[in-house]
Amino acid sequence: MSRSDYEVVIGLEVHAELSTKTKIFCSCPTEFGGEPNTHCCPICMAMPGTLPVLNEKVVEYAVKAGLATNCEISRDSKNDRKNYFYPDLPKAYQISQFDKPLCERGYVEIENEDGKKKIRLTRIHIEEDAGKLNHDEYGRGSLVDLNRAGVPLIEIVSEPDIRSAKEAESYLRKLKSILEYIEVSDCKMQEGSLRADVNVSIRKKGATEYGTRTEMKNMNSFRSIVRAIEYEVERQIDVVENGGKIDQETLRWDDVSGKTFSMRDKEDAQDYRYFPDPDLVAIRLSEDYIENIKKNLPELPESRKIRYVEEYKLTEKEANALTASKYLSNLFEGATKICNNPKAVSNWLMSDVAKILNGKELEPEEIPFGAENLAELITLIEKGTISTKIAKDVLDEMFESAKMPSEIIKEKGWVQISDEGAIKEVVLKVISANAQSVADYKSGKEKALGFLVGQAMKETRGKANPQMLNEMFKEELNK
Ligand code: ADP
Ligand code: ZN
Ligand code: MG
Repeated sequence: MSRSDYEVVIGLEVHAELSTKTKIFCSCPTEFGGEPNTHCCPICMAMPGTLPVLNEKVVEYAVKAGLATNCEISRDSKNDRKNYFYPDLPKAYQISQFDKPLCERGYVEIENEDGKKKIRLTRIHIEEDAGKLNHDEYGRGSLVDLNRAGVPLIEIVSEPDIRSAKEAESYLRKLKSILEYIEVSDCKMQEGSLRADVNVSIRKKGATEYGTRTEMKNMNSFRSIVRAIEYEVERQIDVVENGGKIDQETLRWDDVSGKTFSMRDKEDAQDYRYFPDPDLVAIRLSEDYIENIKKNLPELPESRKIRYVEEYKLTEKEANALTASKYLSNLFEGATKICNNPKAVSNWLMSDVAKILNGKELEPEEIPFGAENLAELITLIEKGTISTKIAKDVLDEMFESAKMPSEIIKEKGWVQISDEGAIKEVVLKVISANAQSVADYKSGKEKALGFLVGQAMKETRGKANPQMLNEMFKEELNK
C-alpha cells in the first residue's frame, strides 16, 4: 500500500497556564521565573497538615474558556487526586478532575482546504501544574524548583478529529487565539504556558476503528508539533508497511535529530488510582453565575472578523488572517486608529510584515514595534516623504531597532527626493548618458521610458520620487 492509502488521526491535550494572580490552592504568586523556590508556601510545597482552598478565579477562567469554545458547563463538578510519583510533584498526587470536568462537549472551528471544520472538544478541566526539575544545572544531579507547583492549568482535550499536521496547527492556533482574546492565559509557548500532548495514530482509509496511538508530551512550539507529527506518521506507516505493530507508548520528540524516541509505556487511567479529593468541597455553579460570565465574555475572533469586513471593508480573507492572532489584530486596530488607512495597514501586515515573520520564524507577539511605528510608516508614504520601496527597507530596520520610521530615515538619509531641481538634474544626467534609449523613446518605444526611470532610480539609490521622475522625463523628452 502507498502512503496515500492511510488516514492520519490526531487528538490534542492542550495545557494552558491560567493568568490568575495567585496559585490554584494557595496565595503564592503565579509569576513566571524568579529564584528557585521563592514563590512557594507550605501548601504548594505539600507540607503535612496543610489544606488546599480552591481559587475562585480559576473556576471563572475555566468557565470562560468553556463558553468561548461552545462547551456545556457542568453545574456540578469536583476535584480528584491523580496519583503518581515523580520528584517534581511534591504531594505525590496532582489535584485534577476525573469524571466530572467543569466543561464538556464543545468545539473549535478551523478552516482547511474544504472550508470550515469543527474539531470537537471532549472536555476542559482544571488542575494544578507540577514543579520543575533542573537537571545538572547546579552541579551534578537534579534539583527541584517548586515555583510552578500549584500554578493553575486548564487541560483542553480534543476528540480525535484532526486529520493532518496542518489541521493540528490550525486548531492550536485557533485555540491559542481564543484563550488570548478572553484573557485567561498569556499563552507564551516559549515559557511553557501553552503546551500540548500530541496523540497520533494511522489507519487504512475507510477503516472504522482507530489505530493504536502514540503520545508525544509537552510540545511547545508550532514548528516542532508539525515536524513531530509528520515524522511520527511516516514512522508508523513504515512499521505497518513492514508487517509490524504500533505500540501504545509515550514518545519524546527531539528537535535536534528530528526524531521521536520511546520514553515509556503509556499509563492507563487505572494506574493513577483517581479518587475525589477529600480536602476540597464539590463545585456547584448557579445559572446566574454562568450567565453572568457569558454576558461579560469579550469579543471573540469570529465576531471581530465580521466586524472587520463591515467596519473596515476588508475582505474575508484579510479579516481572517488579521484576527487569527489577538496581538496582530490589536496592532491593526491601533495603527488604523492613528493613520486612518485600514487597507494600507492590512496590506503591510499581511504581505511585508508576514513575510519577515515567516523568514525569522517569529510569532506576531514578537513583532518588536508598536502601532505608532507602523502608522507612521504608512503616513510617511502617503505624504511622499519616502517611496514604497524605501519603506520596505525602513520596515526591515524596524525589526532591528525599536526606533520610529522618521528617526530611521533621518539617520540613514533615506528621505525621498521630491525637490524639482534635484530631480531635473538626475533626469538630464540620465538622458545624456543613454542616447540609445532616448532615441528609442522618440521613435515611439514607450518601454524605453521605464528603462530611463529605472536608471534615475539607480542613480538616486531609490530615493527619487517616481511620479515626479516620470513627469520630468516626459517633459524633457518631448521638448
Ligand atoms: P489520556 O491520554 O490521558 O489517557 P484519553 O485516552 O482520553 O486520555 O485520550 C487523550 C487524547 O488522545 C484525546 O485528545 C483523544 O482525542 C486522543 N486519542 C484517543 N485515541 C486516539 C487515536 N487512536 N489516535 C489519535 N488520537 C487519539
Ligand atoms: Zn503556595
Ligand atoms: Mg494523554
